[in-house]
Amino acid sequence: MTSGPFVFDTQVLGRRPGTEKSYELVVDAPADLGLDVFGVPEGSPIDLELRLEAVMEGVLATGTASVHAVGECVRCLEPVEDDVDVDLQELYFYEGAGEDELAVEDEMIDLEPVLRDAVVLALPHNPLCDPDCPGLCPDCGFRLADDPDHTHGDAIDPRWSALTQLTERPEE
Ligand SMILES: [Zn+2]
Ligand SMILES: [Zn+2]
Repeated sequence: MTSGPFVFDTQVLGRRPGTEKSYELVVDAPADLGLDVFGVPEGSPIDLELRLEAVMEGVLATGTASVHAVGECVRCLEPVEDDVDVDLQELYFYEGAGEDELAVEDEMIDLEPVLRDAVVLALPHNPLCDPDCPGLCPDCGFRLADDPDHTHGDAIDPRWSALTQLTERPEE
């Protein structure tokens, strides 16, 4: 296992169940952390609180990663950003790790896959600038949150209404 900001040495625990060590550190976010619509920018700081505890079968990692995520409102495309606390918990096995399980390798554990899965679960998959965001005007693309009274009413260009009638007719 290579080294890296998310690789932790568990030798200090000596494989003695009940022994634990806590960390508080700031690490740079890796690339492609999060979702396409809402993710953590590469290199942005992640506040990581981590506790490693030796148990019978391996090393239990628990902690919290505080990330700053950015994206776009899925309704109106305004930029959205949010601070999200992500809970981490994973048991790394000394040996005999199953298919979906992680192992302690050379007394080291890699937290990155755990962080990636937890961040994807914790981030909203449909980020909104506001829970009540009304989205965009279907006629002109105007952001409705900027003027709740936005309407075309009778003021709509007659050429457009003629077009609207033309396009609607075949469906009738
Ligand atoms: Zn919005
Ligand atoms: Zn409009």
